[in-house]
Amino acid sequence: MLKRIDLKRDYKKHEEEYLSAIRACCEETAFSGGKFADRFDREFADFIGVPYAQGVNNGTSALHCAMSALGIGAGDEVIVPANTYIATAWGVTYTGATPVFADCTPDTWEIDPSVIEDKITDRTKAIIGVHLYGQPFDFDGVKKIADRHGLYVVEDCAQSHGALYKGKMTGSLGDIGCFSFYPGKNLYAFGEGGSITTKVKEYNDYINMMKNQGCAVRYLHEITGYNYRLEGMMGAVLSVSLRYLPEWTERRRQIGRRYLAEINNPKITMQSHPSDTDPVFHLFEVMTEGDPEEFLKYMADNGIECNRHYPVPCHLQKAYEHLGYKPGDCPNAEKLAAHCATLPLFPEMTDDEVSLVIDRVNAY
Ligand SMILES: *Cc1c(COP(=O)(O)O)cnc(C)c1O
Repeated sequence: MLKRIDLKRDYKKHEEEYLSAIRACCEETAFSGGKFADRFDREFADFIGVPYAQGVNNGTSALHCAMSALGIGAGDEVIVPANTYIATAWGVTYTGATPVFADCTPDTWEIDPSVIEDKITDRTKAIIGVHLYGQPFDFDGVKKIADRHGLYVVEDCAQSHGALYKGKMTGSLGDIGCFSFYPGKNLYAFGEGGSITTKVKEYNDYINMMKNQGCAVRYLHEITGYNYRLEGMMGAVLSVSLRYLPEWTERRRQIGRRYLAEINNPKITMQSHPSDTDPVFHLFEVMTEGDPEEFLKYMADNGIECNRHYPVPCHLQKAYEHLGYKPGDCPNAEKLAAHCATLPLFPEMTDDEVSLVIDRVNAY
């Protein structure tokens, strides 16, 4: 069975390097924050091309920190795409603010700037755009509306490490960028991890306190704090992985471009990728005609594991039932959720495996 993603292949290939990084961290007992987490922060800030990166314990915490650093709280509203992983909205909810869900476009499947303006009220403080599946969203389209209404723009980059929008790194475009290093993301820790990128010192200083029990100076707590620090071992592993990220990204792009060029089954619709973006193919999502579970079963019978991202859009999740959304409120996101399927895509896939996926999809 070809897995949707197989992390063991990378581990086996670089095992010695990973283990020696972990050993170095153990020898220094730099377990919570510390030398290895700090070193990774500097490397990651350089990679994104911003002055500041703050490692945190996961991407959900990164989103929470971003919202708090921008002063968002109870009574505020933040516009969030309906088609995303639910954690994009949790960051808003944790502060007491309300996520307001916006539909995606029918072709890029990214947040649709043309529906945002109708959702803006005098309580709206920010827009979170998600570079979903590794495809940059229409940042300039979102930014234009944000500027017109004095709103912040936060990028959820949990799926877009290294993706470019008009030649610029995602995570360097908006007020704050939020990354996840959950295993299986394009850059991942051996456990949980996340990072927050910004050019603004004031946000960085706030987040440094927030993730660290509310203090800049030990035992002097200036704000409500959280324990959101990045673990040292995660930093140590991430420094190894970051060196391989450009190579992994190149391979993801090769595979993604082959799928786009060679999949020609009229029952399968693929995401469109505007020419001024350079995506990183975190997830290769397709829309099937009819029931995607049938497609998943067909692929599994052919030795190929697929899954789905995401079968229920955020605005129709039970956790947000109290907000009163109904089917039909975000039709493009709902259609995608009803028909989506994810093909295998990870850097260590062989050319033969890529060909097999293409062949089986075309024969569906
Ligand atoms: C993975 C993910 C997150 C959450 O990151 P965690 O590290 O799992 O907390 C947030 N947003 C998106 C779009 C994601 O894919």
